[in-house]
Amino acid sequence: MWRSNRHLARGGAQLQDQADAYILATWGEPRPPRRKPERAKARHLRDLRGTPPHRDSLLTPVDAPYSHPDRPAEIVRDYRCACGNPHPFTAVQAQVTSGNTKSGGCLRDQARRQRRSVISRAETQAVRAWARGWGIETGENGRVPARITASYRLSQAGRLDVLGADGLLEEARVQHWAQLNGQKLGARGRVTSEVWLAYATDALSRDELDDCSTEQ
Ligand SMILES: [Zn+2]
Repeated sequence: MWRSNRHLARGGAQLQDQADAYILATWGEPRPPRRKPERAKARHLRDLRGTPPHRDSLLTPVDAPYSHPDRPAEIVRDYRCACGNPHPFTAVQAQVTSGNTKSGGCLRDQARRQRRSVISRAETQAVRAWARGWGIETGENGRVPARITASYRLSQAGRLDVLGADGLLEEARVQHWAQLNGQKLGARGRVTSEVWLAYATDALSRDELDDCSTEQ
């Protein structure tokens, strides 16, 4: 026996039972429930609650949240980015609210550019001088290899524990760290410039907590 309306009070439910019994006696089977597709849809949409973007977000919602057309369990929303990109950007609402997604991609691009260009001329000179002291070849002109810059930064911060006997950061250590931290390595597992520098930044932010294997 079907119940057509869960919202009925108990008295209503009793009336419904009586009606069902009457229908069953009259037609020999209960009538199928009448569908009300528009109301059902309206209720579904109302369930998709809008949640605000994270306070650091560059995104502002353009419209109400909606179900992803291919993955209905995923609630997405269209946003406009404060960077001035005129095209709305569709993101998973929960990611925008948590702050995992803060922009339409421009922040990530900017961070990538900064990481690449953040080595100042003064630091490059300091790196060369430091490398000479260790007998490390840097060449006279142009960019110093990122491995050397990363090693220099760690050395300056007293993190000799992560440097090899030659004064340089060990490649295997950084490869291992990259794998654990989902950092993208280059072809054949080569450590890229970005990853050398990212390792140094990470190690400096975490002090010496992760290296219990090193000598005192
Ligand atoms: Zn943007």
